[in-house]
Amino acid sequence: MNAFETAQGELQLGGVPLSRLAQRVGQTPFYAYDRGLLAERVRAVRAALPPGIGLHYAVKANPMPALVGFMRPLVDGLDVASAGEMKVALDAGADPAHVSFAGPGKRDLELQQAVAAGVLVNVESFREVALLADASQRLGLPARAAVRVNPDFELRGAGMRMGGGAKPFGVDAEQVPALLAEMGSAGLQFEGFHLYPGSQNLKGDLIAQGLLQSCELVLRLGAHAPAPVRQVNLGGGWGIPYFGGERALDLGPVTEALAQVQARLVAQWGQARAVLELGRYLVGEAGVYVARVLDRKTSRGQVFLVTDGGMHHHLAASGNFGQVIRRNYPVAIGHRMGEAPTETVSVVGPLCTPLDVLAERVELPEAAPGDLVVVFQSGAYGPSASPQAFLGHPACVEVLV
Ligand SMILES: *Cc1c(COP(=O)(O)O)cnc(C)c1O
Repeated sequence: MNAFETAQGELQLGGVPLSRLAQRVGQTPFYAYDRGLLAERVRAVRAALPPGIGLHYAVKANPMPALVGFMRPLVDGLDVASAGEMKVALDAGADPAHVSFAGPGKRDLELQQAVAAGVLVNVESFREVALLADASQRLGLPARAAVRVNPDFELRGAGMRMGGGAKPFGVDAEQVPALLAEMGSAGLQFEGFHLYPGSQNLKGDLIAQGLLQSCELVLRLGAHAPAPVRQVNLGGGWGIPYFGGERALDLGPVTEALAQVQARLVAQWGQARAVLELGRYLVGEAGVYVARVLDRKTSRGQVFLVTDGGMHHHLAASGNFGQVIRRNYPVAIGHRMGEAPTETVSVVGPLCTPLDVLAERVELPEAAPGDLVVVFQSGAYGPSASPQAFLGHPACVEVLV
């Protein structure tokens, strides 16, 4: 369940054998992201998008500056969720015209920075309207703004729901007409709408349904817009398979829905452009986490591989990043790729807590201290989503190969 190559039984990352890459990095644990796979994924997504649909990268999924710099010219824009991410995006050379900023609880200073930078702010409350108007006046610059709508429907199939019902994200669809009126009277430069119903959805037909519902909603709300609608950010939430039994997303229905959405938006507002913002779908499968086996222990018949890496670097693989049931990410012994498993082991980290598990009772070829364990599907929500300070172990390193 991974797209990496192997040679003589050893995993290759960006064409470099894993053991040699580990020597180059100079330490374990580390994360490695493969440029070839990143570019290939963007190409595949582009091929599935009807012409005219913009593709943005959601920096939150992996904010490593070198990776953002690599992605920037491949996509049409970057979406950020803090002033810190905005800095990474702008440092990477992003054109502020194609940067948008979403997130509940934007601080006053962040909104001022966003106006100064000239990025599009996805407004998520009435308070933000007032603050943006204030920043715009003080800086003598337009405040570019879109409305993040909390839809009046729930997207089914998402691993993490971020729209529909009562949510801290965006503004309830029912309140949007009033918000739009306020944006108009406050003199904000209105540009469009943003919806983000949820993350990690593996059901193409349900994503398609969500896109069509989002489009309907936006067409309705657009009647209250204080200025022409120029951009509709339809979110994303495309998932990747992490666990045994999960299947890759079927983009067929998504492509069809996007073509319909595009046609409807163009028919209504000739100038409007639909964009998608994808995070993990673009980067998640292009990355691995690599840890070294420190110890091999048997406890009452169960074998434990104790590694130098764990939940402090990779919270998601430990099962503590929003999962309800702990399941194993795909793992392998880096120089024994393709070998038949010979034992059942649990791969754990060095932290003194039972939560520090990288893989529980997995079948692997035999491994010894010094060997490298690889956790796949690790290109998104890795170090930046992990409690690195927990227990005071060394930080991990990230490389782009
Ligand atoms: C988290 C987030 C994303 C990225 O989600 P993925 O599941 O990584 O694709 C995109 N947009 C918004 C608004 C988000 O909050």
